[in-house]
Amino acid sequence: MAAVLGAAMVLLMADPRAQDGTVVDATALKARIEGALKARIEGALAAAPRNLERLLAPRQAGVRVNDVRVLESSPAALRVSIDLSQRALTYEPSGNVEPLLDAIIQASASAIGPTPIVDYRFTIDGLPLDQLLPRASAQTSRPARSPADGGVILVSPGHGLYWDEALGTWHLQRPRVRGIVEDLVNWDIARYLQDELIAANINAQLARYPERDANAGPSGNARWQEGAKYFMQMLGAPEEIWNYGVDDYARDINARPFYANWIDAAAVIAIHNNGGEETGTETWYDATNGYQGESGRLAEIVNRHVVSAIRERYNANWVDRGLRTCDGCKGENRLASRPAVIVEIAYMDTAMPDNDALHDEAFKRLVAQALHSAIQEWGASGLTR
Ligand SMILES: [Zn+2]
Repeated sequence: MAAVLGAAMVLLMADPRAQDGTVVDATALKARIEGALKARIEGALAAAPRNLERLLAPRQAGVRVNDVRVLESSPAALRVSIDLSQRALTYEPSGNVEPLLDAIIQASASAIGPTPIVDYRFTIDGLPLDQLLPRASAQTSRPARSPADGGVILVSPGHGLYWDEALGTWHLQRPRVRGIVEDLVNWDIARYLQDELIAANINAQLARYPERDANAGPSGNARWQEGAKYFMQMLGAPEEIWNYGVDDYARDINARPFYANWIDAAAVIAIHNNGGEETGTETWYDATNGYQGESGRLAEIVNRHVVSAIRERYNANWVDRGLRTCDGCKGENRLASRPAVIVEIAYMDTAMPDNDALHDEAFKRLVAQALHSAIQEWGASGLTR
């Protein structure tokens, strides 16, 4: 009995979220999560986000965390609001707020841990973030066509080489971490997925150049390593698709959902891998862009298929981090006028098991197969908003 109690106490100390409400006071729990989140987010503001190392740290530049609040907390769901000062919008001189939000989200991941649903609500001096950012409706956009009617699944491998105006060079969007570059491993998995879908007679297209050949693009490097923006430009898409944004980093993000909207794609599946020294898979969708119902359904199916395939065929202990939503924090999801999800398959900066897995072609292929079966389950049950 004492041993059981002892074990229960250890659990209690280690994971405040896992307790039932009769043991730990809910208000105290919320306060503990809020405290941990606030400390992590303040920590993130002490250094410039990746690719923005030329800038002062956000805190030095005057970005403040006004408030961090846990609006709702249960073992199944967490709703967090983060209020930032106005300076957050202009911290990046051209007005791209996403790298700062990415750094905040990444820093918060360990305070949150695996939780079935986590909803981030960002506000700027009290105003909801999604109301301060551009919307998809201003762009060329056609209603989604279902996969059954030949609607394309746009498979979007995150990142790729881009022209960095501030540095005057071409470079990849993410650093090499333990032998893995996210820009390239995303492409590998996406390409396997495209093959899977086409073999199953599902109309699929890659958002980046789809052949691993020596064909060089504007960067002078192989086109397949370049961002989506340059590929869509090469395809002859209208300029407002690939040339919308403050710089090529932002244009590359915006080009993907805008292209999907333009080709009346059935859905967008963005392939990413995570950073933040955690472990496991999580899947993101936008909670406020008008397509959250169907995006949420797709995200749930995608996350379930990927995690269960990895557990069955690769590692029985793979962590399911769950679904993540926010109010506009990720342009790839926010700007799609159709179901759109971002699947963060594994953590590049965690050696075992995540980074190890990303070195393994069999792992990449099984993830692609799981995504294919997810798209099949999703498409089979119709396409409604
Ligand atoms: Zn990424």
